[in-house]
Amino acid sequence: MGLRNVLKHGDKALLRISREVTDFDARLHSLLDDLKETNDYNEGMGLAAPQVGILRRAIVVTDISGAEDVTIELVNPEIISYSDETEEEVEGCLSVPDVWAMVKRPKYVKVKAQDRSGKPFELDVSDNFLARAVQHEIDHLNGQLFTKLAGKYLSEKEIEEVMFARERELSKRRKEAKAAAGSRRVRSW
Ligand code: ZN
Repeated sequence: MGLRNVLKHGDKALLRISREVTDFDARLHSLLDDLKETNDYNEGMGLAAPQVGILRRAIVVTDISGAEDVTIELVNPEIISYSDETEEEVEGCLSVPDVWAMVKRPKYVKVKAQDRSGKPFELDVSDNFLARAVQHEIDHLNGQLFTKLAGKYLSEKEIEEVMFARERELSKRRKEAKAAAGSRRVRSW
């Protein structure tokens, strides 16, 4: 199918609880492919199936910790442990455009999930950006938007500053990666 339309807040589907995936078939595979394509197209940090109107427990998240972005697919994901350490960071959402707010979350998580063929695996998410994305997308599966957890909302000027700082941090992280040089990396969840 390809690119799918991302539902925006106000759409009731975003507030519903998604059902477990039981069939690891071609239909699931095309959903996961489309989630990745739609997430990449929108420069997202992740995307959950309910955001494209499919109420099934499947998400993709973008791991930006390496030299190249890697998309991780998580089917029926479940967080099995949270770090005691928390972090308050800026968060946005592809379903809530142009809104950014501070959200406090555990800094790291351990998640169990299945891959597209149904094989179970566990993931120790020790990258704080990825851990945030995983938590944000799983919230979508439970019908919860990040605005429910939001602390302070950012003004336009603050958004610009934050984007600048984040861009700087990200390019520092991957200074050895040629792709990082000068590219603007503003991803939203
Ligand atoms: Zn979101």
